[in-house]
Amino acid sequence: MSLTKFLHYPVSDLSKQEILEKVTVQAVLDEVAFITVMNANKMYLYDHSPACKVSVDASFIVLPENAINLGMKFLGTPLKEWDLGGVEIAKDLLAQTNLKAFLLGAKQEILDMVKKHPVYARNIVGTHHGYFKNEDLDDIASLIMNSKAEVILLGLGSPKQEILMQTLRKKLNHGVLLGVGGTFDVLAGVKKDAPKWTKRGLEWLYRAVQDPKKFKRYLKVNSYYIYRIIKFKMNLQ
Ligand code: UDP
Repeated sequence: MSLTKFLHYPVSDLSKQEILEKVTVQAVLDEVAFITVMNANKMYLYDHSPACKVSVDASFIVLPENAINLGMKFLGTPLKEWDLGGVEIAKDLLAQTNLKAFLLGAKQEILDMVKKHPVYARNIVGTHHGYFKNEDLDDIASLIMNSKAEVILLGLGSPKQEILMQTLRKKLNHGVLLGVGGTFDVLAGVKKDAPKWTKRGLEWLYRAVQDPKKFKRYLKVNSYYIYRIIKFKMNLQ
């Protein structure tokens, strides 16, 4: 069974290779499928944003960010592999598979930089920025369909991208929709990926220093993460 639970949150217990294989199989089917990411922020949203919860629950893969690996290790049920967040999987899908990819989200100048990237541009068949109105969604869906994209990376932040998944599900007839947050800024080189030494629990601190506006959010969701684990340990769920 590839989907397991961290507390009451669904997460996949898969290796990177297994994830890429599953996406490759799913991407050619005539149906829309979701991949979401689980981290402290998503745990908070899962419990407070019903629309976000619906997308996570409907996902065939829920990628565990390292905070989840840490939590699973603490509870004595470690996951198979670390470093499986949105940035890592987006990079591998773009560089190590032949799946056609559509990038939706971030500013157009960021997407233009990714389209010129020596490693990540190869599979990109279309892009659209993430600052659109609801009435543009039919046109965006047509753009995605006409591009014949097999993987649609949604980089609008949460819960926006998870809510968008629900809307796009009705407008598309195939494709794997993967929520990747601020990944396009990282691929464009505008935001640095967190260095290796932060990857076992301090990545949030690195991101907060890069983007101080997020500090308050990290305090809130990290406290929530600790609160949920303590509650679980005390059998209060
Ligand atoms: N963004 C967007 N449309 C919006 C708001 C944000 O496309 O209406 C983009 C923004 O440019 C950035 C990403 O969404 O590239 C949000 O990244 P962030 O790191 O905040 O997301 P997280 O992974 O923390 O949810």
